[in-house]
Amino acid sequence: MGISKIVRRAHPCVRDLKTSWRVFFRLKVFYWLPLELTTKDWIPKCPNCGTKCVRNGFNNPPRLIYGLHENYLLHSPERLMCKKCRKEARKQNRSGIPRIDRVQYNFLLTDSDIMDQIAEVDPNLVSEFPCTLSHVKGFDNEYFALVEHLASKSVGPMAVASMTLSLHEATWQKKRIKTQLNEIQFLSLHSPKMFFLLVKKEKTSMNVFADTMY
Ligand SMILES: [Zn+2]
Repeated sequence: MGISKIVRRAHPCVRDLKTSWRVFFRLKVFYWLPLELTTKDWIPKCPNCGTKCVRNGFNNPPRLIYGLHENYLLHSPERLMCKKCRKEARKQNRSGIPRIDRVQYNFLLTDSDIMDQIAEVDPNLVSEFPCTLSHVKGFDNEYFALVEHLASKSVGPMAVASMTLSLHEATWQKKRIKTQLNEIQFLSLHSPKMFFLLVKKEKTSMNVFADTMY
């Protein structure tokens, strides 16, 4: 595939923001591991009963954050657990209380109650957190502020969506060109024959393009 074709083609993932997560390995990742950066041995308290939580593994999956120029992933894998509330939840389970009505005993480091506690310990750390979370995904703070500002100036959602897609497309194209240039450089150093074929193909496609101009 030649450079000229790539420049003209939008990355398929920018056509639908909902599918962007499929190329997660090309997205930036913001890691949120605040317990590694706060005072040693400090751990948040349970928002329900005030008991100190315990660390409960690193299996929370990343979530997609919608950004202005590109989307990225928020990865906050650590879970906390309150043992006292877990005991209470088990009692409620035995009493036949539905799961949704049982006391919560698992918490994430992005939960608002936990974030408030982290802010008390280190306000600067929380100010580095880049996004506002929705129920499932999230919005980058700068993007969110811009959308709010545009809405106050009567710019509708369709115009904002169009602007966002255009900015995302430009970012993807820049990345694609950079990748392609790296590939060409690699071929020119390690496989001159392949490099020659690529240049020949590129020249042919440019000639066909030039012919169509006249
Ligand atoms: Zn508790």
